[in-house]
Amino acid sequence: MEVPCVRVERDRGEETRRRLADAGLLAAEFEIEVEDGYLYLPVTDAEAVPEDVTVVSRAVGERDTPDTPADLLGFEPTYERLGDIVILDEEDPETAREIAEAVMDSDIPARTVVNRASKVKGELRVRDWEVLVGEGTETVHREYGCEYLLDVAEVYFSPRLATERHRVAEQVESGEHAFDMFAGVGPFVVPFAERGAEVVGVDLNEKAVEYLRENARRNDVAERVTAIQGDVREVAPDYEDWADRVVMNLPHSADEFLDAAVELAGDDCLLHYYDIQHEEDPFGPGEEAIRAAAEPEYEIEVETRHVVRSYAPHELNVCLDVRLTR
Ligand code: SAM
Repeated sequence: MEVPCVRVERDRGEETRRRLADAGLLAAEFEIEVEDGYLYLPVTDAEAVPEDVTVVSRAVGERDTPDTPADLLGFEPTYERLGDIVILDEEDPETAREIAEAVMDSDIPARTVVNRASKVKGELRVRDWEVLVGEGTETVHREYGCEYLLDVAEVYFSPRLATERHRVAEQVESGEHAFDMFAGVGPFVVPFAERGAEVVGVDLNEKAVEYLRENARRNDVAERVTAIQGDVREVAPDYEDWADRVVMNLPHSADEFLDAAVELAGDDCLLHYYDIQHEEDPFGPGEEAIRAAAEPEYEIEVETRHVVRSYAPHELNVCLDVRLTR
């Protein structure tokens, strides 16, 4: 198809391409072509290009632009990606099937599409899923340079917490002792160990601990990771006074585990306490519970009051970073 193209010597090609792109004049649906030392840059409006460039009419190929699910559906569906699994949260089964088909026909490299079939539930915080396309629910997910093997049907994992986990991991120093009381498949444990910390991760879920061990190996940090399956309240006495840092990511009931957290804390320990509370006072109840558990043995200083995300209408998922000093 003949379209107007800016013709420019090759060595001025990139600079000209950028100028045209910045001006919104590049016709992205056509290929840029090269011939006899000249670049041909298809443009949307021959009249609008700067006067110092030459415009010619030329037959160029059409580009294959990626197909997104929205291109195929005509509306923007909501979905999350976890490795090669695409996760939907769709109430209407017909719409869910339609989106799943569009995902598979799109350029997203998906192997499986699942729809949420329950809330996260029980002690293990695992959800039920309806598998709409594909068979397996195990995948490899990448987050800030680390990779995690996990099965969404067997363990808890939320890709939405990536930024929050990174915020905490960035504070970790080489050689420190870090204890993750509810470790899951290791999204705090692995990056902590990558930064040189000695890390203990505990989880009640046997499968999660198997994945945690595997993920420590995959990311070459197994020598600094101890993974323990069990109730953290029973494990804590073995690590009394041990921790420089404690992570408590069990937002609905972390307060019930504060005695164990205090038992783990060394003389100077930073506690990352996750909570879900009403927006009117999202930090108060957590701070009060921590003071009740740790004072007067420890001095308490709240270093950060951080909103992680909105959890439900008027409810916030928050994190308190609290320094405990004996
Ligand atoms: N930290 C992980 C993450 O960010 O993906 C997992 C967090 S998930 C919200 C909470 C985890 O705590 C679950 O994997 C669950 O099995 C574990 N858990 C619940 N009760 C526990 C207990 N008493 N002792 C140890 N782990 C427990």
